[in-house]
Amino acid sequence: MTMKRLAIYCGSATPADPRYIELAREVGTTLAQRGIGVVYGGGKAGLMGAIASAALQAGGEVIGVIPQALVDMEVANRDCTRLEVVDTMHQRKQAFTDLSDGFVTLPGGVGTMDELWEAISWSQLGYHAKPVGLLNALGYFDGLVAFNRHMADTGFIRDAHRDIMIVGDTIEGLLGSMAEYQPIKPIVQMRAEDL
Ligand code: AMP
Repeated sequence: MTMKRLAIYCGSATPADPRYIELAREVGTTLAQRGIGVVYGGGKAGLMGAIASAALQAGGEVIGVIPQALVDMEVANRDCTRLEVVDTMHQRKQAFTDLSDGFVTLPGGVGTMDELWEAISWSQLGYHAKPVGLLNALGYFDGLVAFNRHMADTGFIRDAHRDIMIVGDTIEGLLGSMAEYQPIKPIVQMRAEDL
């Protein structure tokens, strides 16, 4: 699977531990060096801003998609290669999916979780067939990875869908796994009696 652009989901906050910002900068630099464009929420703050500025500094393409309400708050990153201003959060998330060849989630908060789980849920249903990566650096997502396994073991995630979430602890390893992703059989292609 060729990945020309990836939607990157990560926190808009800046944690006290500087390793999180360093991680975001490393990911931005790596993507730019590999010729992979970044599609992201278009903000300047936190890990979001760090990944964008590192990618731009390394000569990469960065497309920000941001709702008008956040532009009005002056939080938009005007340095992006392209900044798309949309009306609603729903349009923004649709644009992340339309513009990218896959998704990578870095450490973040509630907004980041919303974006990650939507990418997984839409894959299950068949609204996209793109790889969904989770960068479990610094052990930040250990609990989430365990809970994902618990959902599958309990039967709330079907066997056909238990590998949608691709987990890696380095960006290089994660990109390698995502490139090998084989799309799963989505719910829209299943028989109702098999659900
Ligand atoms: P969180 O993980 O809760 O920090 O949320 C990250 C997501 O929240 C981003 O992808 C955006 O959807 C949104 N968001 C929150 N604050 C900002 C901001 N200052 N600029 C741009 N997007 C933001």
